[in-house]
Amino acid sequence: MFFVSPSRPFALSERWSRPRGEVLRGEVFERDHPGFSPFPTVALMVKTAFCPLLAVHEMFHGLSSPLADPETETRVYHAGELFHQLTAEIKVEVGSGRLPPSVDAIMPEVLKAAARRARQPAEIKDVECYIRPWIASRLREGNLAAGTRTLFEVQVMGWVKFSAGSESLTAPLVGRIDELDFEKNRVVERTTRGEKNSPNPPLLKDYQVWLLWKILTSLKPEDIPKPWRRSYENAELVVETPHNCYTVPKDNPEFEKQSLTVLSWIRDLAEPYRGSLTVAEAYKVSLPLCRTHRKYRECGVNYCVRKRRNYPRSRPRFWEDYQALFQEVMWRRDLTLYRLLCLPPAELVQLGVLCQGKVKGWERGRVSLEMDTTNLQVFHRIDLGEMECRLLVGTPKFGVEVPAFVEEQSGNTCRIAYSAAKLPETDQAFLLFQEALVFKSAPFFLNKLRQRHLYSLEKWGKDKREEAEREPTIQLLEATSGGVPGQLRSGGESEGEKTT
Ligand code: SF4
Repeated sequence: MFFVSPSRPFALSERWSRPRGEVLRGEVFERDHPGFSPFPTVALMVKTAFCPLLAVHEMFHGLSSPLADPETETRVYHAGELFHQLTAEIKVEVGSGRLPPSVDAIMPEVLKAAARRARQPAEIKDVECYIRPWIASRLREGNLAAGTRTLFEVQVMGWVKFSAGSESLTAPLVGRIDELDFEKNRVVERTTRGEKNSPNPPLLKDYQVWLLWKILTSLKPEDIPKPWRRSYENAELVVETPHNCYTVPKDNPEFEKQSLTVLSWIRDLAEPYRGSLTVAEAYKVSLPLCRTHRKYRECGVNYCVRKRRNYPRSRPRFWEDYQALFQEVMWRRDLTLYRLLCLPPAELVQLGVLCQGKVKGWERGRVSLEMDTTNLQVFHRIDLGEMECRLLVGTPKFGVEVPAFVEEQSGNTCRIAYSAAKLPETDQAFLLFQEALVFKSAPFFLNKLRQRHLYSLEKWGKDKREEAEREPTIQLLEATSGGVPGQLRSGGESEGEKTT
């Protein structure tokens, strides 16, 4: 195991701060720090366990890491997501008998599907490198066909208790299970990472699947929709790579202990007053370990090891902008997650977070939903241009959420087109619009973009004073960030004269 996170920045709080009732119901004016702790994702937990600075990069700099984010998991952007979609489809098609279980028969179909979805040709080649050995390995294991009740991309969220020795903490956690196999009682985490002959799963993938299992086992029976209601205590935890399959032990005190440390970092980074100190602490403890263990090779963020230029000198003032952008994400994404976790579906419908519909019929790739008056009111508040949404089958705590589009609406019935390998055909479904989207970030992806631009600006600069003084961007930054004495010269001043 490769756990190198240092000790906690501050003492572990006894409680995780939850939003108050009026905040959940949207009865307060949204400004400044929202007053509750963040809503961690499994991906953020994994990244923080690897390096606290990686948590800083996700929370404040909008950066992804191949350790836990599918979009950067492979060499070419999005090939990781394509891999996940295609592998689920292969399992469904082979399971249903529409595709024969052989590499030669499957690969042409896979390449056709990849060509339709890939944004650039390199992605097809990239994904082929992973899928070919993946099919061969699953065939060898006799594990290529999905069962009739196997679910893919299952979203789970709950209050999870972690304990180690005399310490314990209950925190909210949300994650996505790649595959939940009911017949074999297995939770599967799939990845493109992993060496062919490695006896161990890829770094921290065992922790990731363990965290997902912790969420599953924290759910009460009534949180799980009836068709999937059961105890998951005895489920087998599996990490599937293109070349191998690994079983992960569930009884793992080290993971419990590590989770307390990770939550302590996440909570303290988000604190309005301790945040900047915690970031400084993260730099102090992470960089030496990174250099000694060459961790930058695995984390996928190479900014940290780049030399920091001397100018602009007003960089510390960027912190206020990072914090403001992060707080906006907390108000939008984290608060929505808390609402989905804490409020009953009827209240979520009233708040306009969810639309609930009764299923009138399933076709391949489409579902017709009948809405009542309350749900239609939510529906009518949505612009026609915003008819892209997410279709949720199950409940926010346990369900399958996929991208969808409102194709047609007539009277109280609407037809939704969705894209997924397979959806469980239930009689109830939800629609989520805009910031209610749990994994696909609606407007706050712009915040991530702004965070990233700000961070690349922070890493850029000049070493020599004369060059910095000739560089308009640096001059502008010094001026707009409050300036630093000795850096910004006003027009007509000679070298060494008073500066502002
Ligand atoms: S480059 Fe090193 S210090 Fe920076 S986030 Fe990655 S592992 Fe941490």
